[in-house]
Amino acid sequence: MPAESNLSEYCEWKKERKFIRNGEKVTERNWENRPVAGLPSGGPKKQPVPIRCAYCHGYVEVHVRQLKDKPGPPDHVEHIDIDDANHCKMGDTFTPPHQMSKNPVT
Ligand SMILES: [Zn+2]
Repeated sequence: MPAESNLSEYCEWKKERKFIRNGEKVTERNWENRPVAGLPSGGPKKQPVPIRCAYCHGYVEVHVRQLKDKPGPPDHVEHIDIDDANHCKMGDTFTPPHQMSKNPVT
């Protein structure tokens, strides 16, 4: 698990797996934890696959470091819903206890 200080550098994405089961093509989609690095900048519509907060399952937006050779925050996600930011341990304005999103990405 990531350290508490870099929670926002991880998210979940809906990974698609295609395989053959009993001679039939099957597509499975499962939520998997992954680093934010490598994802395109922007909200859900900019992403090739659905993403969500790994901790409250709320909607998030990807923020990519603009200047690769300058200091700055690493690639990370931020909640879109202020309610998630206030109640999720990954949020900037988090007040305990941690709660799951009321409007989760499923
Ligand atoms: Zn969250």
